[in-house]
Amino acid sequence: MRLPHNQDLENADAAIVGAPFDTGATFRSGARFGPEGIRSASHLLRRYNPSLDVLIFDYLSVIDYGDVPVVPGYIESSYERIAESLEPIHRAGVVPIVLGGDHSIALPELRAAAAVHGPLALVQFDSHPDTWDAYFGEKHTHGTPFRRAVEEGLLDPSRSIQVGMRGSIYDAGDWNDAREMGFDLVPTDEVRELGIPAVIERIRERIGDAKAYVSFDVDFVDPAFAPGTGTPEIGGYTSREAQEFARGLVGLDIVGFDVVEVYPAYDPAGITALLAANIAHDFLSLIALRRKNGG
Ligand code: MN
Ligand code: MN
Repeated sequence: MRLPHNQDLENADAAIVGAPFDTGATFRSGARFGPEGIRSASHLLRRYNPSLDVLIFDYLSVIDYGDVPVVPGYIESSYERIAESLEPIHRAGVVPIVLGGDHSIALPELRAAAAVHGPLALVQFDSHPDTWDAYFGEKHTHGTPFRRAVEEGLLDPSRSIQVGMRGSIYDAGDWNDAREMGFDLVPTDEVRELGIPAVIERIRERIGDAKAYVSFDVDFVDPAFAPGTGTPEIGGYTSREAQEFARGLVGLDIVGFDVVEVYPAYDPAGITALLAANIAHDFLSLIALRRKNGG
């Protein structure tokens, strides 16, 4: 988006932060190039969002904070670096929009956010709940961050909602475990039955006035629209529907966002990165609109 690259938190309201990390991925690899791909696709983004009627830079000073200094291959030290980088951003009252990276980065993101804001409500758009206990015997992968986050007290599952689950799974426990942990989990079959406006209403009721974190895994979107991702699942949403969901969050008290699981090597026409850039643009617009309306 041609934003100025600096780390001057005192004069910023929102910050784009790259997390070029893919050691938590279990199938394809290459999400470490996601931030670069999304930034590249963002060049054409403009300042006014007609759907939300907000001129972003009338209300927000936005910086590109650069990338977190992760260590390829080393998940725990990368987690430390991600959390250490993001915590001062939250502490300064700046809202981060993190560009992933595989979804394992959500755990250190939430560690940083919860250290400042306390336990958070989660809005997760994803075709997977990412609440396994372990994968390949390991506790930290892109399939496990939200279970770890609950165990660590970073999330209030009773105010949290996961939307879009679909595809084949190992057994019913893959989804029921998340519900037993306290999440509201809305599979895509149910979204199709209820309709998107009703699900948006369900998200808004679930979150209420809680401080929320929004995590957007691009595999939420159908691989016809977002092929460049790590674990694609067919039968998903169009890019237009993804925008409807994002824009449905208007007015919520959101302290952080991410857009994750963009794999440019599997994205020959760049459409996944373009989608992710535009979702980030909607997120910026949400922050601006809340300021515009006095929040
Ligand atoms: Mn995910
Ligand atoms: Mn996923």
